[in-house]
Formats: sequence, structure tokens, C-alpha cells
Amino acid sequence: MQLSDRITHILGSGSDGWDLFRKARGMKLAGAPVVELTIGEHDVRTDPAILQAMLDAATAGQTGYAAIPGIPALRAAVADRVQAQSGVPTGPDNILITAGGQAALFMAHHAACDEGDRALFIDPYYATYPGTIRSVGAVPVAIRARAEAQFQPDAADLAAAAAGARSLLINSPNNPTGVLYSPDTLDGIARVVRDHDLWLISDEVYDSQVWEGAHLSPRALPGMADRTLVVGSLSKSHAMTGSRIGWVCGPQDAVAQIVNLATNTNYGIPGFIQAAGLFALNLGPQFEERIAAPFRRRRAIAERILAGQNLIRSAPMQGAMYVMLDIRATGLTGEAFGEELLARELIAVMPGESFGAAAAGHVRVAMTVADDVFADALGRILAVAGQLARDRAA
Ligand code: PMP
Repeated sequence: MQLSDRITHILGSGSDGWDLFRKARGMKLAGAPVVELTIGEHDVRTDPAILQAMLDAATAGQTGYAAIPGIPALRAAVADRVQAQSGVPTGPDNILITAGGQAALFMAHHAACDEGDRALFIDPYYATYPGTIRSVGAVPVAIRARAEAQFQPDAADLAAAAAGARSLLINSPNNPTGVLYSPDTLDGIARVVRDHDLWLISDEVYDSQVWEGAHLSPRALPGMADRTLVVGSLSKSHAMTGSRIGWVCGPQDAVAQIVNLATNTNYGIPGFIQAAGLFALNLGPQFEERIAAPFRRRRAIAERILAGQNLIRSAPMQGAMYVMLDIRATGLTGEAFGEELLARELIAVMPGESFGAAAAGHVRVAMTVADDVFADALGRILAVAGQLARDRAA
């Protein structure tokens, strides 16, 4: 039977960017001691106290259908967190609880774009972005942020693509680059979005992982609260990736419409998961700092190790759980370097090309293993890159 174009086109053409990851996983399953620095997932599991809150809620009966927009106390707690961080007045009606940031990305695009509309996003990008946009029937349009500009998108590039588009998706702190958008970058983005009457979809799932400067939500900029849909999640901030809990924050009328989509898709998020999310948020900012601490430490380790040589540079390590290494001195693509590294050292990283053309010649190293393992692996990555660069020069 014929399937819809909308569903058969979700993946787009070519590789999905996960070939090297799958190869490394296969080797590991076959017994090879591969160090995996690929996926963005903590090396700690969800805190036992959060799991206890989940069990208590389920045992107490929160196993039936839960309020579809989210239980009132959780919507209020998320609104308080958003308001505390951004300074923008935010109430429960501005929040819809979703199945993680990923569902929020889908719902935000569904709300912003009609079939065939152009939806802008920044390259390098988190792997699901183009597929998410295609999933709602819109057309993904990548705008390159250049390595030479520390992966800060340029407002002129955005303006050149903005005519007739419906939305722009940004992500700061950024996966895969680890950069934080500067106040100037965000001002430029907001100007283009206002001038061209776009929705801004701001993916802020790494807002608790900021190593330099401060997280700024563009929803707080002049004239932006009415046209910004913020995507948030407890996955990264609270090490709750598997619980699938996040939110969309936006204007009340937009959220009310997106609730209709929630009614006709997930029909709400399990009550015991929401109770656990509420418990987790009530642990306060200190808990979020505790979850972020290993990445802050490893980022400092990476700074020190990178300073010990001068062939390979990284993008500014300002946030999130990744180091983006520029390996162009080796003359290899990120993919070829990744293959070489896996073969020589049994270390798996993500090729930059997996995240878009703008990250070609880079590899993304996830800081998601114990400090000593990370330090050793990064040292060996730099040694391989340095050797390849010297071989090339010889
Ligand atoms: N946005 C970005 C930039 C991400 O890196 C991720 C997960 N890796 C997500 C959204 C989705 O996260 P989740 O659905 O687990 O909240």
C-alpha cells in the first residue's frame, strides 16, 4: 500500500549520520573495549530520590489518564523556572508538558508551519531537526553558521533566507558545537524574526549546562514573547532522558491550540512521570548544578589537554556536554577521521558531517565517560590527529 510522502520523506536522502555510531556499538557488543564518546547521555542514571517519587506517585494511584496539558502543579513549577531564568512573566497557561524536548520540537513546528512552508534551522544542528520539520510537512532550510565565526549564526545570512519562511529554529547552548549564542547574535536573530514575521522556536534543553557567560532566552528580548516557542526538557538538566518529559512554553493562545494536538497524539504524559518531574524541579537549582558538575569538570580537563598542543583547536567550550574538535589540519573529513580513530584507538566520536555541512572536518566528542577515561581518550584523539596532520605536512 502506498504510504504518505510525509512519512516516507521524514529521513530525507543519504546516511542518517549514525553509521559510525552503529559500527562502534557493534564492535562493543562483540566484546571490543570501545570508548564511546558519541551519544549525549549522562554517565549517571536518574537519581534514586526521583525514582522513589515516581514509584510513590504510581503506588498512590497516579496511573490513570493525567491532565493532558500537564498536571497543574507541574505546569506552575515549569513556569516558575522559566520566569526565574528569563525574567519573562510566565504562568501555567504558557506551558504544555510534552514527551521530552523532541515532542516539543515537533509540536512547536506543527503549530508554526503549514504544509510546504519553509522552516529555517541553523547548521550545525541536532540530528533530528530536518526530520522533525519534514514530519509536520514543512520544508527544512539550513542556514550555515561558520566555524570561522565560532559557529555564531550571522543575521545577514538569516535575513537572506527569511523572506516567505514561517519559522526559525535555534539551539543555545548548542548541540553539537558547545557554543552559546552571544547577546549580539541573539539580538540579530530577534531582529530578523520580527522583521520577517517568523515564529522563533528556541531549543533550550541545555540551559542548565553553561560554562562561560550566561544562558539568555531570546523570548526575553523586545517583542519576542508573542512569537517565541521555547522547547525545554528535564532530560539533560535532571538526567531524566528515559522519562521523556519536557515542555513547550509560548503565548497562551498558541499553547491552548497545541493542547489540541496533544489530545490527539499522546493524550497526556503519565501522571507518575509528571509527579517525578515535579519532585525533580522542586530539588531546585543546586540539584541541576550537581547534574551538570561532571561536564563542567570535564570541560576544564579538555581545556587543559587542548592547551598542551597547538595543532587541533576546539570550538569555544561554552556549554552543553560536547567538545567540537576542528580536525581539518589532518586533511580528513570528520567521517574518515572517525573511522581512523575507531580503527587505531577503539575510540568512537561523532563525525561533524552527521550534524550538517557546516561541521565538516570536525568531530563531536561527548564528555559522557568518567573523568580519567575522558582525559585519556581525549589525549589519544589529539595524538592521532596530530600524527595525521604531521604525516600530511611531511
Ligand atoms: N534538542 C537537543 C539540542 C538535543 O540534544 C536533544 C537530545 N539529545 C533534544 C532536543 C531532545 O531531548 P529530549 O527529547 O530527551 O528532551
